[in-house]
Amino acid sequence: MDLNQASQEQLQQWQAQLQQEFENFKTQGLQLDITRGKPSSSQLDLSNQLDGILGGDYNSANGTDVRNYGGLDGLPEMKQLGAEILSVPQDMILVGGNSSLTLMFQAMMQAYFFGYAGAESAWQNQGTVKFLCPVPGYDRHFAICEHFGIDMLTVPMNDDGPDMDQAEAMIKADPSIKGMWCVPKYSNPTGTVYSAETIERIAKLGAIAGEGFRVFWDNAYVLHDLNTDAPALPSIADYCQRHGTEDSVLQFASTSKVSFAGAGVAFMAASPANLAAFKKTLSIASIGPDKVNQLRHTKLFPNMASLKAHMAKHAELLRPRFDVVLQQLQDAFGDNDLGQWQSAEGGYFVSFDTRPGLAKRVVELAAEAGVKLTPAGATYPYGNDPENRNIRIAPSVPKVEEVDLAMQVFVCAVKLASVEQALAQ
Ligand code: PMP
Repeated sequence: MDLNQASQEQLQQWQAQLQQEFENFKTQGLQLDITRGKPSSSQLDLSNQLDGILGGDYNSANGTDVRNYGGLDGLPEMKQLGAEILSVPQDMILVGGNSSLTLMFQAMMQAYFFGYAGAESAWQNQGTVKFLCPVPGYDRHFAICEHFGIDMLTVPMNDDGPDMDQAEAMIKADPSIKGMWCVPKYSNPTGTVYSAETIERIAKLGAIAGEGFRVFWDNAYVLHDLNTDAPALPSIADYCQRHGTEDSVLQFASTSKVSFAGAGVAFMAASPANLAAFKKTLSIASIGPDKVNQLRHTKLFPNMASLKAHMAKHAELLRPRFDVVLQQLQDAFGDNDLGQWQSAEGGYFVSFDTRPGLAKRVVELAAEAGVKLTPAGATYPYGNDPENRNIRIAPSVPKVEEVDLAMQVFVCAVKLASVEQALAQ
């Protein structure tokens, strides 16, 4: 379909055909949902062994009875696993509850209200606070900023990570920029993997930014390769050490999409000073995390090799779903300019850009035909995609045939919206 060369008659003909196809989908009473990056039930089944894995032995390696209070920053053996996942020394790790998002919220709270270097360092005492947000990005990061009243400034996402020329220029020009969100591997939603050069430049931001600057390094998909030959991500902590910016980066990860999304284990990695400040506040809020669950996880994943073998099983289940999405997009839009996307090598999403101005209409059309998509705009701060073109596709939950059907509807919706637009111009 080349809309640029098409006559008015041709466009009308396409519209009639697509409208017919669309009406056919509508009569099927579909109820499909490709909105959120959640594991499917089959993926969750991979970790059912967690149930009963302790066999009545509640002692950790050093003899701690994990049923009791205490151990604010986690079991040593779970710290070790977190250290390997995030490529940092074990003493940088804090093991939390089930959600890394909660740790991010708490880390933000620490920076905003209490400060990482005493009360005076709290951002709330420093006037306007701004954050850099690579876009498209993760809506829940943006929601945290919005909740704290932090202004969000967007930075474009390039193929090798955020546009660092822009990020550095903005940070140099404006000391009220206090932080930046990053999802360095299989970024949500574009699937971008940051290059070593980008990671090093991010590690150096702490040296050019104002006091108290913190990168929120959300490595949610560090383990989530779809292919076996995926490259390892360079450790930002190593670069920080090289450049003396250890305090400027807070790292996060979890087993949410490794074991149980609602009952996994989350990690934070930070410098000794950052950890001390964070733990001071945490000790007021908690007498200790769920160490029973931590111990269960160390039994299921005694080392990195077992974790990697487990992730390969996830990839087996996810790959066919991504293949369907990518094949459908290639077939429909590979030879025209109605849409652009990146092929996913890991993570949970495919990010799709319509022609400018059409994302909302596509989401609306898909919904009419029973296919739920993430609301257009969700991948931008304040829900505002200035070009109204980005749509996040999350194919992990439905069965492969359902993803296929949902994508047929999606493709039809994109084509129909594009023809409508061409006719209106
Ligand atoms: N970060 C990113 C980038 C995510 O995509 C998600 C889940 N969609 C999370 C964090 C949530 O992590 P958790 O379950 O550990 O809170």
